[in-house]
Amino acid sequence: MDGSIKVKNLTKTYKGDVKAVQGVSFEVEEGEFFAFLGPNGAGKSTTVQILTTLVKPTEGEIFVGGINVKDNPEGVRRNIGVALQETGIDSVLTGRELIEMQARLFGFSKKEAKTRAVELLELVDLTGDADRPSGKYSGGMRRRLDLAMTLVHNPKVLFLDEPTTGLDPMNRKAIWKEIKRLNREEGTTIFLTTQYLEEADQLADRISIINQGRIVAEGSAEELKRTLGFDAIQLTFETTEEAEQASKVLYGIGENMEHSKEEVTIYTENGTQFLPELVRNLDEQHLSPKTINVKPPSLDDVFINVTNEEKERV
Ligand code: ADP
Ligand code: MG
Repeated sequence: MDGSIKVKNLTKTYKGDVKAVQGVSFEVEEGEFFAFLGPNGAGKSTTVQILTTLVKPTEGEIFVGGINVKDNPEGVRRNIGVALQETGIDSVLTGRELIEMQARLFGFSKKEAKTRAVELLELVDLTGDADRPSGKYSGGMRRRLDLAMTLVHNPKVLFLDEPTTGLDPMNRKAIWKEIKRLNREEGTTIFLTTQYLEEADQLADRISIINQGRIVAEGSAEELKRTLGFDAIQLTFETTEEAEQASKVLYGIGENMEHSKEEVTIYTENGTQFLPELVRNLDEQHLSPKTINVKPPSLDDVFINVTNEEKERV
């Protein structure tokens, strides 16, 4: 078994004709860090559940580590780790007990399970809290425990469904650091879902943006920004009236414009090249901006761009 993932034309329709996933295809190479980025209800969890053999697809072919999920779900399960979005961590058992239990499920002897628990607790920085009931853990500690439990059997592929949703920035960074390390140092393939643009931007080699069950964009963060993002030229004026006038003068320049109070923002490719023409046009109408600022494209713009487009088509 290698660490690759291959998905061809995956479809999942739930009862009541809920089309959760609609013809999704993608490939992840061994050792790659892949992110599924999408808003709530996009179909992320459904995809993770299908790829990890927990839910059956309506249609499509799925290979995890070269193994067909349909033919050999057990084989797939032995080689993957999964941290689901909704976890049912037992509140009375301690972190240590839960990891040991998980290790036993994967066939470790009692002694091996104890040793593995010590290692993993250290790894996710829970040694000090190992013998407290996990129900008393904070959100961040619980996610770290989740992560430790998925790592018991050294999986080749790790599936993480929104591992940092609801966490404060410090705990989020701690999780980021650990999964980055697993990917870089252990060569673990990572399939991560998130609704945080920054998370995908920071961590992933490649990103697929999923919306309403379909992949609407794919590429590295840089590629996505380059092909789908725009520079934002932000102009501020002394008064609302001036900004209003400016927005009329500049109407039609660039791809898109936003106007609120004293501020006008124009979205365009090659923002800096546009500046002279823009200033000239304003000058002709005796309008001079108080500040001008050109911002390179962000993944946020890309996201808004592709998810809005998709909505309009529906
Ligand atoms: P995400 O994880 O991106 O938020 P989900 O995969 O959980 O999205 O959900 C995708 C769509 O499928 C949503 O419309 C959701 O309501 C629906 N859905 C998810 N699970 C079920 C289920 N077990 N039965 C019926 N509909 C479901
Ligand atoms: Mg989800």
